[in-house]
Amino acid sequence: MRRTIVAANWKMNGDKAEVAELLNGFKAQLDTNKADVVVFAPAVFLPKLETELADSAIQFGGQNAWTEPKGAFTGELSLGMLKEFGCTYVLVGHSERRTIFGESDELVAAKTKAALDAGVTPMLCIGETLEEREEGVTEKVVTEQVQAVIDVIGVEALADTVIAYEPVWAIGTGKTATAEQAQEVHAAIRAFIAKQSAEVAEKVQILYGGSVKAASAAELFAKPDVDGGLVGGASLLVEEFAGIVAAA
Ligand code: PEP
Repeated sequence: MRRTIVAANWKMNGDKAEVAELLNGFKAQLDTNKADVVVFAPAVFLPKLETELADSAIQFGGQNAWTEPKGAFTGELSLGMLKEFGCTYVLVGHSERRTIFGESDELVAAKTKAALDAGVTPMLCIGETLEEREEGVTEKVVTEQVQAVIDVIGVEALADTVIAYEPVWAIGTGKTATAEQAQEVHAAIRAFIAKQSAEVAEKVQILYGGSVKAASAAELFAKPDVDGGLVGGASLLVEEFAGIVAAA
């Protein structure tokens, strides 16, 4: 039985006061019996999360990291640094990193491997653009993204990652994939992995991301291959995010 994960991606949002308010709200209102909850915060706030969430079941992670453990990589963070500040997860390959910062499948795979090597769970984001969906190549695109990672880490190690299927056209647009659309792609991803390892396919958690709201979460999470959600905008609103966790 795969446990549900509900993750918050705060992206580049928040200031000290807002983060304090969000953390107080999350600690008071999120039901962590319903799901594993993970918060991806801007790096400068991670020490604050480490302190504030020390006695909480809420886990947290970085939104990005570099592949190397240290060195001349100005502006980057290592996985060891994230780990030292209590991060148990790291986002890898978010579509904003792929499109705005030009991260390739190869770099995403290298980051996934580096995270696993450091003992930090990578949350691997994959998804198709609107053009790709309209061309009918969604399954090809997402399975190629998964295969690029398998090529580097091997299929067995995929069981130690979490996959987040995030159609690019649904991120921050208010357009959620229907629960049926999400289930169809999640099932295709799982079937693709099953051809290489039935055991890994059964174990790996596949989250849906893209304009998830409290009102849409229950139907999405009820689908057999949807193991939770990665939530952007709605995770900056305590009540809304608490509603999504409650739907798990
Ligand atoms: C995300 O950033 O991963 C995301 C899913 O954002 P939103 O919920 O705002 O679409």
